[in-house]
Amino acid sequence: MFPSQFAYHRPASVDEAVKLLQQDPDAKILAGGHSLLPAMKLRLAAPSALVDLNRIDSLRQIAVNGNVRIGAMTTYEQIYEADDLKQVLPILKETIYQLGDRQVQARGTLGGSLAHSDPGADLTAVVLALDGSVTAVGPNGQRTIPVSELFVDLLTTSLAPDEVITEVQIPRPQGKTGMAYLKHRHPASGYAVVGVAAVITLGDDGNVGAARIGVTGATSKAERASVAEEALVGKPLTADSIASAAALAADGLDINGDHYASADYRRHLVTVYAKRALEQAAGQL
Ligand SMILES: Cc1cc2nc3c(=O)[nH]c(=O)nc-3n(C[C@H](O)[C@H](O)[C@H](O)COP(=O)(O)OP(=O)(O)OC[C@H]3O[C@@H](n4cnc5c(N)ncnc54)[C@H](O)[C@@H]3O)c2cc1C
Repeated sequence: MFPSQFAYHRPASVDEAVKLLQQDPDAKILAGGHSLLPAMKLRLAAPSALVDLNRIDSLRQIAVNGNVRIGAMTTYEQIYEADDLKQVLPILKETIYQLGDRQVQARGTLGGSLAHSDPGADLTAVVLALDGSVTAVGPNGQRTIPVSELFVDLLTTSLAPDEVITEVQIPRPQGKTGMAYLKHRHPASGYAVVGVAAVITLGDDGNVGAARIGVTGATSKAERASVAEEALVGKPLTADSIASAAALAADGLDINGDHYASADYRRHLVTVYAKRALEQAAGQL
């Protein structure tokens, strides 16, 4: 299958990319292309032009001093191989291990994954559970968007068409923090039928100080399982408290069904994977 005709631009800077996007409202950013190009070949997307960010080297940096900062064009493979990043946020490497295949890992980018907001993507839920945010640059300058406000709906974000995500920031975990991401993988596509990321931090009193649970695959966009989170905070972390909280993980979520997995089945999977992810995170404390 062939995409419809498009112009191709390869800017050398973010400012140039923004100008190109501003000049053509139907242009789209090209990052790894592993979501956009299939959509174009299926004619689900027909941009008039592609603005390819691959030559902007400044978008491929990883910094782990203080808060973690990852350039939007950093590929999954580069994140997987960054040993200093693994020390601080091992969940990223664990997630990428479960994501797609070698080709997808070599080309797909963190910024592209977040900007695409695919309902079955993995890193959306993980960055949500890590309380991450993105820096977006547009014609009016730069702004920071918490990912909780970035994902709006199915394949829809709060980015303007002429805004470029340049960087993803993740607060450095404080104190005793455990984190895990587990997913029920679709046997054909490898995407998450349901995926759950859990990040738990103990307070000074030994009880749960903070708990964040990101859910993907089940709803139209990655969501926090806030009812389950609230059930954990301020209490001792025990097998019983984890089981009770996990049983609430689908509460308040508008769960979708399809021909592969009904809404009821996905609801069940959310509770099962929440329990497993919480147990795995708790095991690190
Ligand atoms: C066979 C296959 C299996 C896959 N399996 C998985 C899986 O298991 N889990 C998973 O999570 N994903 C999976 N993916 C998707 C993959 O992770 C994509 O790479 C990702 O969704 C998009 O990243 P990208 O860099 O390829 O973005 P692109 O495809 O280039 O772009 C995606 C969208 O984001 C926009 N965009 C990209 N970068 C930016 C930016 N910096 N600022 C603003 N907008 C931007 C583009 O304009 C486009 O609309 C799979 C893909 C394939 C082909």
